Amino acid sequence: MRIPLPYSGGLILSYQCNLSCIHCLYNCRGNWKGWIENEKIVDILKRLKKISNFVSLHLTGGEPFINLPLLIEAVKICRNFEIPFFIETNCYWAKNKEIAENILIRLKESGLNSIMLSYSIFYVYKVPIRNFENAMEVSFKIFGRENVSFYTFNAYRIVKESGISESFDFEKSIEIIGKEKFLNFLGNYLVPKGKCLYTLEKWFYKYSPERFKGANCIAEFLNPHHIHIDLYGNYIPSFCSGITLGNYKRVLENGIIMNDRVLNFLINDIYQLLLWAEGLGYKRKDAYINKCHLCLDIRKFLVDNGFKFDCLKPEEFYHEL
Ligand code: SF4
Ligand code: SF4
Repeated sequence: MRIPLPYSGGLILSYQCNLSCIHCLYNCRGNWKGWIENEKIVDILKRLKKISNFVSLHLTGGEPFINLPLLIEAVKICRNFEIPFFIETNCYWAKNKEIAENILIRLKESGLNSIMLSYSIFYVYKVPIRNFENAMEVSFKIFGRENVSFYTFNAYRIVKESGISESFDFEKSIEIIGKEKFLNFLGNYLVPKGKCLYTLEKWFYKYSPERFKGANCIAEFLNPHHIHIDLYGNYIPSFCSGITLGNYKRVLENGIIMNDRVLNFLINDIYQLLLWAEGLGYKRKDAYINKCHLCLDIRKFLVDNGFKFDCLKPEEFYHEL
């Protein structure tokens, strides 16, 4: 199968993250080590630069600020390639305005012009709200308001209005915020894929497996926006996680994705993936949140049971899921 070359996407510098959030799409964690090499960044950018429609890159993780020297080098490389880019962060490092200014000026001087600041109920227990506010105020000053974006400002506002400031206890947070507001927050914030399909399972409505007969992932695989390439070279479609369409070199060369049994089921009919997996010993659930829940649960079963498929990468994604 051939897919269109990407218009926009992110470079996952590492899956290491100091927060290990319960909802993390990529199952990022503090104990997931490993960072991209400069040579790989250069090679990826060289290939992206050749795509005339490629207009926006973001440097992401994990939490890229954990490895500031590498992030600064990555910013310099991006500047040299003249591809518009920004970085994403959870703001943990902005302990006060002086620290925030120091760090952001170094990044600005290295070539950074735009930043996305992330905040949510899930961060509160490790990142005090004032860190986000420090990062926001200093970013406005250094990059200009128009070059600062949020994921999501509504989430920050909910935390601010609720007065939650220190420990994050799920049930307690819901009590404070109110169930309706919490559901509203989840609906506007969560991408219903990855780890949250297990950790927040009870908050979703579910459907019988038959509901997914004939469903496939062609739209996601063909979507040229918001693809990711990770430190291992995996080309990841849309908002999927733990699955690759192939190595970025091959995909960016001609749009041809790998020929893999699991991918072929996903391209054609996810229900057939279920029937096939049952033949290998997979036990179906009574109900699934969405097709991604069905897909992930089967992929997890395959990895946990030692079945090897080239598209099931990175394997660490499936650990502690
Ligand atoms: S801050 Fe972001 S990358 Fe880190 S664990 Fe949370 S959701 Fe994942
Ligand atoms: S079903 Fe799987 S491959 Fe398809 S969009 Fe969802 S997570 Fe991605």
